[in-house]
Amino acid sequence: MGMSYRRYLYGERVYGCSKCKTHLATIHSMISRAFNGQHGRAYLFESVVNIVEGEPCDRPMTTGNHTVRDIYCIKCNTTLGWKYDKAYEVSQRYKEGKFILERNLLVDVQ
Ligand SMILES: [Zn+2]
Repeated sequence: MGMSYRRYLYGERVYGCSKCKTHLATIHSMISRAFNGQHGRAYLFESVVNIVEGEPCDRPMTTGNHTVRDIYCIKCNTTLGWKYDKAYEVSQRYKEGKFILERNLLVDVQ
């Protein structure tokens, strides 16, 4: 895609990459704080910017099988969480197309 520019977010609360402070998401797009990532607590977001998506892979979770893509910071390449491509359990379908960001990898930039 060749997207090398970075989007700047505005809002009451902006979350950024803890390593390079690149803007990732606002509190307005947060759906839930009650998720677990690879490194502890994680947040579910409706939309995230300035990321690169990896290849899809199937990952079993406590809530059933999911197809996910790891997501990386567009600037420093840190793995920040993942995107849900597909949930196999009907009750988990609301997560499709949404993003998980690990709390420990986020910093308040605004
Ligand atoms: Zn970064």
